[in-house]
Amino acid sequence: NSKNGDLPILPGATLGVLGGGQLGRMFAHAAQRMGYFTAVLDPDTDSPAGRVSHHHIHTDYDDVDGLARLAGLADAVTTEFENVPAPSLEHLAVARPVSPGASAIAIAQDRIAEKAHFTRCGVPCAPYAVIETAAQLAAVEDSLLPGILKTARLGYDGKGQQRVKTRAELVDAWQATGCVPCVLEKMLPLEFECSVILARSRDGQIVHFPPQRNLHRDGILAVTEVHPQNMPKTVAQGAVNSAKSIANGLGYVGVLCVEFFALADGSLVVNEMAPRPHNSGHYTMEACDVSQFELQVRTLAGLPLAAPRQHSPAIMLNLLGDLWFTAEGGDKPVSPRWSDVLALPGVHLHLYGKIDPRRGRKMGHLTLTGATLEAVRATASQAALLLG
Ligand code: ADP
Ligand code: MG
Repeated sequence: NSKNGDLPILPGATLGVLGGGQLGRMFAHAAQRMGYFTAVLDPDTDSPAGRVSHHHIHTDYDDVDGLARLAGLADAVTTEFENVPAPSLEHLAVARPVSPGASAIAIAQDRIAEKAHFTRCGVPCAPYAVIETAAQLAAVEDSLLPGILKTARLGYDGKGQQRVKTRAELVDAWQATGCVPCVLEKMLPLEFECSVILARSRDGQIVHFPPQRNLHRDGILAVTEVHPQNMPKTVAQGAVNSAKSIANGLGYVGVLCVEFFALADGSLVVNEMAPRPHNSGHYTMEACDVSQFELQVRTLAGLPLAAPRQHSPAIMLNLLGDLWFTAEGGDKPVSPRWSDVLALPGVHLHLYGKIDPRRGRKMGHLTLTGATLEAVRATASQAALLLG
């Protein structure tokens, strides 16, 4: 039921995005560089993407009037975060091309539906149980403990997750969620984590970036490293093939990130997917000849995709609000030492224009590039030292 008649949508047209966070901001930058106008819908009057867009509609995501204004301004609409109500996307899709589609977003919003989709595509995930009722809670097998209880909806950056060792802890943890639908996942010994970002066009063509190796701290992505030698070839190939199956199974259109756990025995299990560009793909802006955000523009506009080529090894360091709180500053945020960091070679600073730093809040990131992986690693450790 979506309107795809007038593709490709050429530069000079207006591209819309639901969500005004940093991903929307970097989408807007990529679209504008290619000659598009941009429109953002986000309830926050001060959103990172709204600040850099030609149009900013500040209403809720399910506001019929706001959606109508977006459809009036934009020739096609995408989204930058997965908790946009799927009915809003369906509503927009009657008037304009929308990608990714509402059904793919609805699956990515719900860990239960997401895991069922992975299984349907033949891609294994960590052993898990669905917990929606007290009876399902009681029936959980001992083999899933110790485990992680995750709310089915609205989790991100480790929020909505509780680690449980015993059945008693599991019962308490489920009650602490308010007995909302959850999944209990077996805690796996991770060798490392990686992710694959791909773009799929309306006619089913897929291009992808090389798999990234990711380090999380407290459930939040901290470091991404990308270099052909950063994981065994079989693991990298397995991750790419699985991500393609998952995208094909959804009939997906747009940029998709699939996160994986690599286990000690060389096997790979899928963790979750994000129906949008991803934090682990920010390095593509400087280290690849096409970025994940440009591919989002191309898939949305119906332009040809180009297989990306990474031309430099890269490390991405996330800049969380914690960096603004130093011993000297106390409770008052102090800007990190950007001049010192920027004196290092191959440093690319991205700040998202968020005014108030808070602990755990993603304020920006650094991408480090260089001639060799060793050089990039050396710069990364120096940058980390300077940032404290
Ligand atoms: P979020 O939606 O918050 O990103 P994830 O399900 O990706 O949630 O979990 C966040 C992080 O927690 C993962 O990147 C991983 O480091 C850790 N984690 C999650 N599930 C497991 C698991 N089953 N076994 C071991 N570690 C896990
Ligand atoms: Mg995750």
